[in-house]
Amino acid sequence: MTSALSPAMDVLNRVFGYPDFRGSQRDIIEHVIGGGDALVLMPTGGGKSLCYQIPALVRAGTGVVISPLIALMQDQVDALRTLGVNAGFINSTQDMSQRRAVEEDFVNGELDLLYVAPEGLGVHNTQRLLDRGKISLFAIDEAHCVSQWGHDFRPDYLGLSMLHERWPDVPRIALTATATSATRAEIATRLRLDDARHFTQSFDRPNIQYRIVPKNEPRRQLLSLLRAEHAGDSGIVYCLSRASVDKTAEFLSDNGIPALPYHAGLDARVRAANQSRFLREEGLVMVATIAFGMGIDKPDVRFVAHLDLPKSVEGYYQETGRAGRDGQPSTAWLAYGLQDVVQQRKMIESSDGDMAFRRNAAQHLDAMLALCETVSCRRAELLAYFGQPGGGACGNCDTCLAPPESWDGTVPAQKLLSTVLRLQRERGQKFGAGQSIDILLGKQTDKVTQFRHDELKVFGIGKDLRDQEWRGVVRKLLASGYLAVEGEYGTLALTDRSTEVLRGDTKVMMRREAPQQKTKPGRTTK
Ligand code: ADP
Ligand code: ZN
Repeated sequence: MTSALSPAMDVLNRVFGYPDFRGSQRDIIEHVIGGGDALVLMPTGGGKSLCYQIPALVRAGTGVVISPLIALMQDQVDALRTLGVNAGFINSTQDMSQRRAVEEDFVNGELDLLYVAPEGLGVHNTQRLLDRGKISLFAIDEAHCVSQWGHDFRPDYLGLSMLHERWPDVPRIALTATATSATRAEIATRLRLDDARHFTQSFDRPNIQYRIVPKNEPRRQLLSLLRAEHAGDSGIVYCLSRASVDKTAEFLSDNGIPALPYHAGLDARVRAANQSRFLREEGLVMVATIAFGMGIDKPDVRFVAHLDLPKSVEGYYQETGRAGRDGQPSTAWLAYGLQDVVQQRKMIESSDGDMAFRRNAAQHLDAMLALCETVSCRRAELLAYFGQPGGGACGNCDTCLAPPESWDGTVPAQKLLSTVLRLQRERGQKFGAGQSIDILLGKQTDKVTQFRHDELKVFGIGKDLRDQEWRGVVRKLLASGYLAVEGEYGTLALTDRSTEVLRGDTKVMMRREAPQQKTKPGRTTK
């Protein structure tokens, strides 16, 4: 038998100890061993690393891996070394003597794999160093970082087009877990991968159940979820701010769920300790900002919960993709509310980026909102976003399991837009969602009296809906672009498209929100 084994299969069995390839690994690996260029799109956990590690071991010379994840290089290299692979890395965290030793190994042809940071390659020294050794292949990891319109652009990646000019005969393999078809095309162009074969593995993660719920009391809602469905499970909870990470971790711990915080504001040693506990121990919940998770390989993460809205569908997919790598049933749960939309729009508007940057960020946010507000299958929407349309209903997401009733919200939408319009036209004023809703509900608050908003024609015309429902109307209008949020205070403003609704040219279909679960009004979650 052994004599018939391909070199790739031999390395897979002997070095990595796996019996068989997964998905398209075999095709990709054979193609690169044969000297071809490849552009690989594979979901997180799909097994991208082997796609370049095995060819690097089979081909003569050193495989040079370009990765932006400097913090992970040491771990990756250590893991390879325990398998008997000669791996090394060069980056800014090293001192001179460590670096010299790695360089020497490379030049002497003693390295199978060399990890470098993209900024290193721009440096003449590194380029000259690479000329002194023999390179078997270039692997460009996280290749979507080259896309200026992606969500994770890194300018240093643009320089990587020079690999092809300087080493035209060395095969290149670019890998990413996140790229729409437009981004894929951009990667190919910018990296000069003109003749690369494209390998695209399905983005579907059938064992992950996607659920998106309206946010009321996020920590209480999370606690109910964990108690009801994930007692004793490992999981990750993402929050936007460091303060919210700390509070949530404390809240869970106080309620008997072992939880650790992780964010950039913590001491590096604490962070490392928390991370390694999460990886080693069972049943720990990691509460983190999105700083946590890149390259984390824990197979039995049973849930990923978001307490704040991700900035893009790409980010959402990447973060939720950390659940269920072992293929077992897992939950991706997101709570989102109006405040998220207001906050993120504010962040975009007050960012230092230019117009193009802001427009791009706004488009990413809009796509995320559309996913939240959809009345059809979440998975189908998600896959369509990544260029795999026509999936049909999946049967394993919240909208499939409990189809949301939709209702015609055109009249309420018109009432809300009229309120914004009247405030602007009659008073020259702009207010946030809260005040507009108070006006519609006919509430005599201090602010209503102060601004004489009870004299407006629209005062009290929206008593047929509850406050929660009005918030849903605002969210839907924001998600669909019929309404905008502006400025430091998150005030509401009409858009070019508002008239479509006001004139009755468009119907506004709304998700009926499940009645709130017995939460006590006014009760805060610590
Ligand atoms: P990605 O980079 O695509 O997120 P990794 O390369 O980190 O994924 O692989 C994810 C996990 O799957 C790792 O634990 C890896 O060892 C494992 N793996 C990859 N290929 C195989 C295989 N053919 N058989 C068994 N396990 C595999
Ligand atoms: Zn579905």
